[in-house]
Amino acid sequence: MMEKEVNILLVDDEPIIRDTMTCILQDEGYQVVSAATGAEAIAIGKNSFFNVAIIDLKLPDMNGLEVLHDIRKYNPQICALLITAHPTTDTLISALKAEAYDYIRKPFDINHIKLVIKRGVERQRLFIENEKLLKNLTNEKRKLEAILQVSEMMSSILNLDKLVNFIVVKSMSVLNAKRGSIMLLDGSDKQLFIKGAKGLSDNIVKQTRVKLGERISGWVAQEGKPLLVANVERDLRIQRKNRPQYITKSFLSVPLKIEDKVTGVVNLTDKLATSEGVFTEEDLKFLSIIVQQGAIAIENAKLYKKVSWLAITDALTELFNHRYFQVRLAEEINRARRYVRPLSLIMLDIDYFKNYNDINGHLRGNILLRTIAQILKNNARGVDILSRYGGEEFVIILPETDLADAQAVAEKIRKAVEDTPFEGEDKQPDGKITISGGVSVYRQNISEDQFISRADEALYKAKNLGRNRICVYEQ
Ligand code: GH3
Ligand code: MG
Ligand code: MG
Repeated sequence: MMEKEVNILLVDDEPIIRDTMTCILQDEGYQVVSAATGAEAIAIGKNSFFNVAIIDLKLPDMNGLEVLHDIRKYNPQICALLITAHPTTDTLISALKAEAYDYIRKPFDINHIKLVIKRGVERQRLFIENEKLLKNLTNEKRKLEAILQVSEMMSSILNLDKLVNFIVVKSMSVLNAKRGSIMLLDGSDKQLFIKGAKGLSDNIVKQTRVKLGERISGWVAQEGKPLLVANVERDLRIQRKNRPQYITKSFLSVPLKIEDKVTGVVNLTDKLATSEGVFTEEDLKFLSIIVQQGAIAIENAKLYKKVSWLAITDALTELFNHRYFQVRLAEEINRARRYVRPLSLIMLDIDYFKNYNDINGHLRGNILLRTIAQILKNNARGVDILSRYGGEEFVIILPETDLADAQAVAEKIRKAVEDTPFEGEDKQPDGKITISGGVSVYRQNISEDQFISRADEALYKAKNLGRNRICVYEQ
């Protein structure tokens, strides 16, 4: 029997032909709609799909070829068979021109009719199938090109946030998904957090934490295997109610992997209207290619960030190093000069630190340096640039800050150090760990070196006046 319904439109003005032919065709399992006039046939052809049209060349109201021409406008793939009593060369040529497939002669030879229709139907089926294949190939080619382009661009993005965003956006556009996210494993390697997302609320992005093995993404990260779910509610592996924030019930989740180590997960949901919102195996294949490249690019970006970070920070205190301080100071001076804005500098030095080291050992000395660095961080603003200037000296650049405000900041830090208990500090000359500080403010047309040495001079004064105090540079 027929695999699928085949619809035939039969157009003939003679009732007897319509009836016999309809009977024959229905016996063969075809669906038949018949029309007695050209106008009637066109009206029917406008509104429904037909695989085959069988049209009498001579109709009372118009020529069969004209009818075919009009029906084609709405059924471009229709396979046309023409009925004619006298097939002359002329009619055959015009039938060919109208791209009719074959003709049926009157009077009928039933077996011949059956054969012609069977061939026509078969030809039409192949035609539709080819079109579908071609469309799929074109689609596939378009997607592969997009993926290639995405892969190339990914490797050139070194900023992690930008890269992650790029991967999400491009994956979504290649696969027609409305929502997507990239989750990365946190420092403990046990939880996923959302590093980048599109179509999710800020709250969800901020708050989501998924333990390994939990929920879908946690499962994918733990197993290291991609997951294609057609319907969350029906999938035996999941079986839960679709979350209200998702429109469709299908999604893709693919692990980011470097060699065999999972570093995160890429999720896509809400495939747009095509194919009823269900992702396919092919979608999974494409996403896997993007994600594979993405994992490497993410690793590179992380490495780059780490290397850049190492180049500008001091390993012990995790404050900026001396070199970075010099670069930033030059920048800030330029800005202060150009826009005539206030700019200040604080230089701090631990009192009797040599003594502390000698009595408590170098390691404890290092811990003290780290603790003081932390006190600096706690008491400075985000825009202040904190750096370790030398062994036990710290310097702070304070943009948009005048002398009095900088002095207040320095004083706050001095007080915080004084109030912080340190192990072994009882053996210090004053019985506790303290710092001294010098503050200078930028004046138009002084040099960088002058700006620094003025703070240094103030610090020297603080030491001379008995330490554990802040002095400002005065002309
Ligand atoms: P002052 O109050 O005059 O500043 O006296 P001070 O002892 O702090 O000054 P001095 O310059 O004589 O000694 C600084 C000491 O800082 C010398 C050195 O042992 C110590 N130091 C410098 N860098 C480090 C470091 O990275 N770790 C440790 N533990 N100690 C350091
Ligand atoms: Mg010193
Ligand atoms: Mg010192």
